[in-house]
Amino acid sequence: MPLVPMRQILDEAAKGGYGVGAFNVNNMEQIQAIMQAANDTNSPVIIQASRGALKYSKMIYLKKLMEAAAEEFPQIPVSMHLDHGNSLESCKEAIALGFTSVMMDGSLASDGKTPNTYEQNVDITRQVVEYAHPLGVTVEGELGCLGGIEDGHGAGLTADEVDEHLTDPAQTEDFVAKTGLDALAVAIGTSHGAYKSGRKDPKTGEMLPPTLAMDRVHEIHKRLPNCHMVMHGSSSVPKELVDIINQYGGSMPNTFGIAVDQIQDGIKHGVRKVNVDTDSRLAITGAIRKVFMESPEKFDPRDYLKPAREAAYDVYVARMNAFGQAGHAGDYTAITLEDAKSFYK
Ligand SMILES: [Zn+2]
Repeated sequence: MPLVPMRQILDEAAKGGYGVGAFNVNNMEQIQAIMQAANDTNSPVIIQASRGALKYSKMIYLKKLMEAAAEEFPQIPVSMHLDHGNSLESCKEAIALGFTSVMMDGSLASDGKTPNTYEQNVDITRQVVEYAHPLGVTVEGELGCLGGIEDGHGAGLTADEVDEHLTDPAQTEDFVAKTGLDALAVAIGTSHGAYKSGRKDPKTGEMLPPTLAMDRVHEIHKRLPNCHMVMHGSSSVPKELVDIINQYGGSMPNTFGIAVDQIQDGIKHGVRKVNVDTDSRLAITGAIRKVFMESPEKFDPRDYLKPAREAAYDVYVARMNAFGQAGHAGDYTAITLEDAKSFYK
């Protein structure tokens, strides 16, 4: 099966009332683990690469790995999505490479740091839509700014600033209408990376879980029932994965992620794409640390990359079941980018 336009995967998820995990990748082991998990749970899936990931893998390698993934599991609908494109050029580059979906993050300027104005965001997102849709490629945009910095991308807002940059539901209808996008990333208090909360207990100084503005998701879904929302920074940062890292020589402070039941509440209210990156990183790092600590004589990379791949697989299976995409790979016949062209006409 060729790679599927993400729009179809999201439309079908809306019909079925479930969410779809969008998992970030940098290498072969992650892609193999995701595809094996999708196959074993019979899940449609979105695999995404950031600009940092493309740079790390020298572009062409990720493309070829994705083609291999689609070829190995022809019955699994899979999209290849650019995470946080920062300009029309970076989106064009991904589309030329064969990505079936791009995110134009117009919430930030092309430096990936400075918040854009609303008008600038509308303008650049619309330009990407006008370029991508005639090619059948899906476009995700973002309204409001997320917290955290990942791969050098992010405004690095403080906890107070994050509150000021949450998505304003009253702007969403105008933003969706003016840009024509397919999926809307919302800023509701999630942030990228393992340290999602700027909140600390004033007495003890201990980290507190991030507070999410789920009411904004509910409100947007009421205003735009057909809009596919995207939750970024939605790793759960399970304590057991952090504990494994720390047990085997790591040093990660106590931290919190996004609880799965909050994500499930979002899915009930129009969230169709759930971005998860950190959880697979934690699983991989913990598995590798364990081998290094327990078997310091080992030096064959397969001795630690294989358990790393298996640990990531377990995370993907758990998320696919939790988001509800499991069991839905065979619900529909996947379309191609060519088919999607007429969809947008
Ligand atoms: Zn993101």
